[in-house]
Amino acid sequence: MFDYDLFVIGGGSGGVRAARIASTEGGAKVALAEESRMGGTCVIRGCVPKKLMVFASEMPEAVADARAYGWDASVGVFDWGRFRGALDVELDRLEGAYRSTLLNAGVTIYDARAAVVDPHRVRLASGEEFSVKHILVATGGRPFVPEVPGGELAVTSNEMFQLEALPQRALVVGGGYIASEFACILRGLGVQVTMMYRGAAILRGFDDEARGMVAGAMVARGIDIHCGVDVARLEKVAGGISVQGTDGAAREFDLVMYATGRKPNSGGMGLEALGVGIGARGQVLVDEWSQTAVPSIYAVGDVTDRINLTPVAIREGHAFADTVFRGVPTKADHELVASAVFTQPELGSIGLSEQAAVGQNSAEGRGPIEIFSASFRPMRSLFAGRTEARVLMKLVVDQASQRVLGCHIVGPGAGEMIQLAAIAIKMGATKADFDRTVAVHPTVSEELVTMRKPVRVV
Ligand code: NDP
Repeated sequence: MFDYDLFVIGGGSGGVRAARIASTEGGAKVALAEESRMGGTCVIRGCVPKKLMVFASEMPEAVADARAYGWDASVGVFDWGRFRGALDVELDRLEGAYRSTLLNAGVTIYDARAAVVDPHRVRLASGEEFSVKHILVATGGRPFVPEVPGGELAVTSNEMFQLEALPQRALVVGGGYIASEFACILRGLGVQVTMMYRGAAILRGFDDEARGMVAGAMVARGIDIHCGVDVARLEKVAGGISVQGTDGAAREFDLVMYATGRKPNSGGMGLEALGVGIGARGQVLVDEWSQTAVPSIYAVGDVTDRINLTPVAIREGHAFADTVFRGVPTKADHELVASAVFTQPELGSIGLSEQAAVGQNSAEGRGPIEIFSASFRPMRSLFAGRTEARVLMKLVVDQASQRVLGCHIVGPGAGEMIQLAAIAIKMGATKADFDRTVAVHPTVSEELVTMRKPVRVV
């Protein structure tokens, strides 16, 4: 007899889902340990507070638009303290909701760090130990600052939600999801923003046309983007932080935020000593069932560094619970996962970029790719006099099968739009399926079903 059928380490999206399903639908006796706040990165220091900051940062533009639409409106001054207070209240509410979900599901919660003693034994920081049949590691990841002189002066996304005051001048280092999103948030809140990215163009991995358009719009909003430049050194000076770039220039900021990727939280739990494989990036190595090399130990979510997105962690946690506790063997599906970057404008994406599709088809000798793409000025912002605002609708189609391999949308609501396009693409839609769908007019997304001729065949 074990104390618990399942012991989950980590109360984030993946761990909480697995614990709840194992308990309520699998009839398992479940415990969950979380050393920080319940809800994990997404709820406490990621997606949720980030999205609320995105909303806050979009208000000045909305108010300016309101004026153009005939309203007597002015945005006034942004009170960071008031916003932060409201954000804290909302995060407390969400944390409470996560906690009560678990308690209502019959899961025992331990507010403590846990480590694995042997394949069937877990120890809390208090010294308390439990015998357990299965262990699920769902400890997520954390942002990291690369080795750079003065690196300790920089903050990461973790600290951005707790700033005492907004800076006047901020440097964002990196060119991925988090860097691009925070650059836009800060700019929208009135901060002077500079971005430094070591590569040639930000948002590497996304469709070139789409990311080029996002970068162009960010520059048009006043974000000073320096590509091909990295930070050589940071130094505290009287006026703030002096940053020496690899281009030789020195610039001064009040805040430097690094968004140079995240590392899996796999250390200090005794996993390696037990024979659990740990990869080069620190990720817990698992098979398609999320099982490690030690049969009683599983891992889901960012700690496995597969696709680091909340909904993916949730699916992995659910699939694990179905497999191990409900007798329904289920693999998490990592194919055709849509995602959105909440920049301004947003970027929504699913499937292959134009470049990846061309590369894949030529490697497999599968013929050309047809590109359907429309870029235009949406009526809402055009009427408001924002003549530079454009949207992009793009479909990447395999010419031989006519299957839609990818969809890329840039513009307001791109995250919402890509979610719906993703259903069709996941179902294997062809270009003809899009074409025979009657448009909803007047919308931005109707363009997805009205693009008749490819703009190029590559
Ligand atoms: P990303 O992997 O998206 O981006 C990391 C960036 O930092 C890249 O531009 C990378 O450059 C650069 N970089 C990496 N190492 C160094 C280094 N040593 N020196 C300088 N630059 C470096 O990571 P993020 O931190 O932005 O986000 C982590 C993950 O979280 C994302 O991959 C995503 O899965 C998830 N996320 C999802 C969001 C969403 O769905 N909206 C929002 C936020 C995060 P290079 O391109 O050259 O490698």
